[in-house]
Amino acid sequence: MTRRVKQYINGSWVESNASTYTPVINPATCEVLAECPDAPVSEVDQAVKAASAAFEDWRRIPVLSRAQYMFRLKTMLEERFEDIAALIVSENGKTRDEARGEVRRGIESVEFAASVPTIMRGYRLEDVSSGIDETAERQPLGVFAAITPFNFPMMVPLWFLPTAITTGNTFVLKPSPQTPLSTELLFELLDELDLPEGVVNLVNGGKDAAMAIMEHAEVVGVSFVGSTPVARIVYETCAKYGKRVQAQGGAKNYIAVLPDANMEASVANIMGSVYGCAGQRCLAGSVIVAVGEAYEPLKAELLKRASSLRVGYGLDESTQMGTVISSAAKERIHRMVDQGVQEGAQLLLDGRNIKVEGYEDGTFVGPTILDGVQPQMTVAREEIFGPVMSLMHVPDFETAIEVINKSHYGNAASLFTSSGKAAREFKYRVRAGNIGINVGVAAATASFPFGGQRDSFFGDLHGQGLDSIEFYTDKKILIERWL
Ligand code: NAD
Repeated sequence: MTRRVKQYINGSWVESNASTYTPVINPATCEVLAECPDAPVSEVDQAVKAASAAFEDWRRIPVLSRAQYMFRLKTMLEERFEDIAALIVSENGKTRDEARGEVRRGIESVEFAASVPTIMRGYRLEDVSSGIDETAERQPLGVFAAITPFNFPMMVPLWFLPTAITTGNTFVLKPSPQTPLSTELLFELLDELDLPEGVVNLVNGGKDAAMAIMEHAEVVGVSFVGSTPVARIVYETCAKYGKRVQAQGGAKNYIAVLPDANMEASVANIMGSVYGCAGQRCLAGSVIVAVGEAYEPLKAELLKRASSLRVGYGLDESTQMGTVISSAAKERIHRMVDQGVQEGAQLLLDGRNIKVEGYEDGTFVGPTILDGVQPQMTVAREEIFGPVMSLMHVPDFETAIEVINKSHYGNAASLFTSSGKAAREFKYRVRAGNIGINVGVAAATASFPFGGQRDSFFGDLHGQGLDSIEFYTDKKILIERWL
C-alpha cells in the first residue's frame, strides 16, 4: 500500500483520519511517492488547540533559549543537506543544484531567526513628561499559521516558522498537498529538536484545511504564499476573521535590456531567470523587453542558448532544467502558448513536444520562446509559471517602463544596462517590489523583507527581515511614573 504522509500534532506523529487523499507524484518518473491526506477540520482544530495550549509556557522560555533551538536546527539541516535536496527533486522536479540552492536559502532564514534576541528588542524614552518614562515592548501574540506553495516546499515554510517561534509564538504549517514530503522531513528534524509539545504542528490538505486555519478563532495570524487568486481569498478571509495576514501572490516579471548592457552577462542571467526551476519561481523572468538595438543580438543569443538547454530528471547531475510540477500544469502551459500564437505571437522555439529518454511520461516542457509579444496579449499579462519566454521589442527606455507599469502584478522587475542614470530611473519608477539591476532573479536575502506590490502582495508587513519581527510581535506600550 502507498505510504501516507503523517501529521505532526502536539509533539507526536499522527495518522490522519482523512476520507480523501492526494497522490504525491514524482513528476519525472510518475512514481506515486505517497498519499497526502486532506485533513478534516477536526484535525486542524487539534493542531491549533495544541499550539494554543503550548503558547503561554513557550513565551516564558527565555528568548536566548528559544534562539538556541535555531542553532541546532541549522546544524541538522546542514547535516541532512543532500538528503533534503534529493527529496525536493523527487517531489518537485527541479534540478539537484536548484534544490541545493533552496535548502541554502532556507538555512539562511533559520540563521536569521537565531538573531531574534538582538532584533526583537523594544525601545524606551525617559521623561516623556515630568518624571514619566515610556517603553514599547515587543510581545508574541499566540498561534500563527502558514499556508505554502509547491514550488519551494522547504524554503518557503522556513521563511516563516523559525522566526514565528523564536519570537515566542506557536505554529501550525499547512504545506502544498503536491509537495508535502520535504515538510514532513523538516518536521522529523523539528521532532529531534525536542521542542515543548505543541510549539510546532503540521497538518496536510488543500483548500478545506487552509480555510479551517483561517476561520479558527485561536489563530492570530496567517502567512500565505501562492497564486494571486488564492492570496486574495486568504487576505479577505483573514480580514473577515480579524487576523493579521501577509499574502504573497503570483507574478509576471519583466526584464528590460538596454543596448548598452553587457550582452553576454545579460543573456546568462536571463536564461537562469526564465528557465531556472522550469520557470516555476515567483521571481522568474517572463517577459523580456528588448529596447531598440538590443533586440536582434539578444534574440539570436537567447534562441541559441535556450535550444541547447539539457532537459531531464533533476537527480541526473547533468540536467539543466527539470520538469514542471504536474500534467495539469503542463497542459495549462501548453494552452497559454497556443493562446499566445492565436493572439499573434510567433513561436520561435517550441518546447511542447519534448521527449526525455527514460522519462517518457514525465511532465517536461522544453524551453519555449514566443517572439513579437505585445503588451495586451495574455502571455504578456498573465502568469504562465513554466519555461516560456515572451520576447517583446520596444523602441526606447520610456516605452519599456510604461509597458512594465501596465502590469497588474508587481513582484519583480530587472534592468540590464551599464547606465547608472537608467538604473536609477528604473528603480525609482517601476512598480514592483523586488528590483534587479543586472540581476535576473532579485531574491531578497533573509534579513531583508521579500518585496511584492499590487496583485503580487496583499498586506502591509512582508515576509522575512524586520517586517517579520513586526508581523510576529505586537508592541505593548508602558507608561510609568514612580511617586
Ligand atoms: P496555490 O495558490 O495553488 O496554492 C498555495 C497554497 O494555497 C497551497 O497550500 C494550497 O493547498 C492552498 N490553497 C489552494 N487553493 C486554496 C483556496 N481556494 N483557499 C485556501 N487555500 C488554498 O499556489 P501553488 O500552485 O502551490 O504555487 C504557485 C504560485 O505561488 C504561483 O502563482 C507563484 O507565483 C506563487 N508564489 C509566490 C511567491 C511570492 O513570494 N510572491 C513565492 C512562491 C510562489
